[in-house]
Amino acid sequence: MNLHKKDIPLDSLGFDIDCVVADTMEAFIRLAHEEHGITVVPEQITRFNVEECLDMETAIADGIFHKLMVDPIGYGMKMLPGARRVLHKIQHHAPLTFITARPEEAPIADWLRHELGQPATADMQIIAMGDHDGKGEHVKSLGISHFIDDRHETCEHLDTRDITAIVYDQPWNHGRHQLSVVRNWQDIHDCCF
Ligand SMILES: [Mg+2]
Repeated sequence: MNLHKKDIPLDSLGFDIDCVVADTMEAFIRLAHEEHGITVVPEQITRFNVEECLDMETAIADGIFHKLMVDPIGYGMKMLPGARRVLHKIQHHAPLTFITARPEEAPIADWLRHELGQPATADMQIIAMGDHDGKGEHVKSLGISHFIDDRHETCEHLDTRDITAIVYDQPWNHGRHQLSVVRNWQDIHDCCF
């Protein structure tokens, strides 16, 4: 299915955060180099579970992700290009909604407030599930019809729940699903406005 202009309803849209709004992999690659002397190039990250595609001990990968979970501001996690501009524009029409598998809500909510400022985050909704599975329940509970996520298994699960799941194109989901795709925030913008 291909998306067209205004296909995404602004008042019924939710976002995953990591690797959709946040450039989590830029931060991961930077910390791998700075703190462990391990060089990773983006093209190497071809699996959602990075230890399946990188020659890196699971404990090191988990340690880096833990840092980005507890202190994304301190470790300099950035937004993906264009995310701030488009989220600000969407927020003029409807409150922003985020559902993340992260277990801790406060650090990532603080990061969103830090990156997006007020008033964009004043009325945002955020759910930290603490689990990669079961996002459909939360999407349904918020009454959202459209959701953007980079984990194709999540999107396929949402699709079975009659939610319009849109895959944010990343190397680890490329060619692994049949769902609608956005390649970047310009694509998201063009489907929203
Ligand atoms: Mg994600």
